[in-house]
Amino acid sequence: NRGLMTGKRGLIMGVANDRSIAWGIAKAAADHGAELAFTYQGEALEKRVRPLAQQVNAKIVLPCDVTDDASLDATFDAIKSSWGSLDFVVHAIAFSDKDELKGLYVDTTRGNFARTLDISCFSFTAVCARARPLMPNGGSLLTLSYFGAEKVMPHYNVMGVAKAALESSVQYLAADLGPEKIRVNAISAGPIKTLAASGIGDFRHILRWNELNAPLKRNITIDDVGGAGLYLLSDLSRGVTGEIHHVDGGYNKVGMMRTDAAAD
Ligand code: NAD
Repeated sequence: NRGLMTGKRGLIMGVANDRSIAWGIAKAAADHGAELAFTYQGEALEKRVRPLAQQVNAKIVLPCDVTDDASLDATFDAIKSSWGSLDFVVHAIAFSDKDELKGLYVDTTRGNFARTLDISCFSFTAVCARARPLMPNGGSLLTLSYFGAEKVMPHYNVMGVAKAALESSVQYLAADLGPEKIRVNAISAGPIKTLAASGIGDFRHILRWNELNAPLKRNITIDDVGGAGLYLLSDLSRGVTGEIHHVDGGYNKVGMMRTDAAAD
């Protein structure tokens, strides 16, 4: 390995399979020498996560449902007793009812609003609170967002509202934990075909639209996010906190694409 993460230990939350964004970041961190632990949500995903953890020599693989305080406590207690301390956490977790990831935002129900915000926003704060005492010498906390936090994207609906709250919470957490040298950042990733994304209405169209309109003229991969994640988790980004870092081929910077031949 190239050593950028040598001596660092990190917890990866949110791997569902080998298409997960969390897996892209995990691979990059492991490739550079990090020692990793993984959590999975429920037994069905355990079967997928264990072999992936094995691929990167991770010994600690734990169940964790972020809606359950006791489950979160058990996860961080286990990390504490195995490692004593922690250098980074990747939080790549979101959820909303599929039925509300289509149609209009105005039709969002109270129950799904609360659940979406709980899993997709509050859980990162709950994770940061538990990681904090395990980071006496500082650390890096990373979550995943999407452009739907900033601008309206079709079908993203309540998830966009949750991501806006998540991005704001990144700033508050960065301010709270900065004096302890704990950095808090988010990657705003372009659309990638994952399990979670398959719940979003007309996702294929969103992928195609981004490919056509992003300055880089392509969609991004989990390895692209892995590279940016490596930067934010490592000491290369030691001066960076509270940042929402876009990894989207530049899509968010474009107001309107030129349509003349030079653009093709
Ligand atoms: P994914 O389906 O691979 O990962 C989502 C993960 O969330 C799964 O591992 C799932 O088990 C976990 N999760 C859901 N509810 C949970 C709970 N109650 N407790 C514990 N874990 C729970 O999909 P992904 O696209 O890799 O998603 C990872 C993150 O990236 C999410 O925050 C997502 O919003 C964000 N993101 C995705 C895209 C995209 O286009 N795929 C773009 C930008 C941001």
